[in-house]
Amino acid sequence: MQEAAEELASLESRTTGKPLKQGRSDAAALARYFEYYGGSADKLHGETLPYGTGMTVLTIREPHGVTGHIVPWNYPMQIFGRSVGAALAAGNACVVKPAEDACLSLLRVAELAAEVGLPEGALNIVTGLGHEAGSALAMHAGVDHISFTGSPVTGSRVAQAAAAHHCPVTLELGGKSPQVVFADADLDSAVPVLVSAIMQNAGQTCSAGSRLLVERAIYEEVLGRVGAAIRVLKVGPALEDLDLGPLIRRSQQQRVWDFLSQAQADGIAVAAQGEIVEHAPEGGFYQAPTLLRDVPPAHAIAQQEIFGPVLAAMPFDSEEQAIAMANGTPYGLVAGVWTRDGGRQMRLARRLNCGQVFINNYGAGGGIELPFGGVKSSGYGREKGFEALAGFTRLKTIAIRHG
Ligand code: NAD
Repeated sequence: MQEAAEELASLESRTTGKPLKQGRSDAAALARYFEYYGGSADKLHGETLPYGTGMTVLTIREPHGVTGHIVPWNYPMQIFGRSVGAALAAGNACVVKPAEDACLSLLRVAELAAEVGLPEGALNIVTGLGHEAGSALAMHAGVDHISFTGSPVTGSRVAQAAAAHHCPVTLELGGKSPQVVFADADLDSAVPVLVSAIMQNAGQTCSAGSRLLVERAIYEEVLGRVGAAIRVLKVGPALEDLDLGPLIRRSQQQRVWDFLSQAQADGIAVAAQGEIVEHAPEGGFYQAPTLLRDVPPAHAIAQQEIFGPVLAAMPFDSEEQAIAMANGTPYGLVAGVWTRDGGRQMRLARRLNCGQVFINNYGAGGGIELPFGGVKSSGYGREKGFEALAGFTRLKTIAIRHG
């Protein structure tokens, strides 16, 4: 994968529309997942348990058998790496259904796997439409575990189909993740991260920091600085390697436009917008990065996953209110907190209802070693890190009476 990184990056960039530098970083992450999980394969073991005189009880971790992996279009290589890398290391055979919009990089990875001698049948890629190939995979009685990343609606369908044959499921369903900025924050460090956390991959990131909650005393200053950073962002063709490429497809562009029209109709002001380069091809799925201000916390813009380069800013007046707002959506995937107050850092880390909390940094897409996953409509189960290996195994308890 490392040797083929440039080819993989280019395939990913051309099929998803992401800038080449993002494709390169996704190719590097893919290789790193396999390095990380490859190293874990001989470190996965059970335990012995104390259980009375004359008894020895031990647990062993066995693979599920056949694992199904339904992969979305936003980060095909990264999402493949995190779930297939762990599943293979745990001893499963994998059947992967890539997204219909972007499957070429994964087909190339399958060729590479065959070239380096991965046992036949260990990795299988089945392309096709979600409601055909994806649905068939979720319903198949020969599949022993499903790992799904995508939208909440499809996630529920997959879980229902899998439930019919009592198949365990891991769901990673996106979010509406808050970045909470207190008045004592180091803004020089925070501002570039507040912007990249949402604008990376044109906002089409499940863990995007799409809500900006700012303590009122510094609200105007933060909006000014974040707005200035957004205004200089350039959007254009993927292979030109600008800050943002196009969105994945027409329907995704329309989805973003619908949210923005609703915002406009409801009087929500645009505080700043980036620029689509003049020579961008007519009819491309481009969307200028947009900062919206004073978004009412209950508005759809602040509640629903837009999956585009749109940051919703809103002020808060107290720590308690910030926590309530941060937790006040159907989602709970990631949160960012910016403050120098150590007590406050821990209070928020404990009370934010989500799977990952980043203090004075933000980890959209990063952290191969860090367990990742959501609560509420963001899904359940954990991927990444050693925690994922537990999910791709089933524990067997063996109790021996030997006197
Ligand atoms: P989706 O959930 O429909 O598709 C994700 C994957 O599921 C694709 O591989 C698709 O082919 C497959 N799929 C679709 N229908 C299926 C079915 N009935 N059974 C089994 N598999 C099926 O997502 P989408 O329509 O491409 O995007 C819609 C929205 O989902 C986006 O706007 C965004 O909000 C969200 N999304 C989230 C993530 C994420 O990383 N959490 C990724 C992609 C999309």
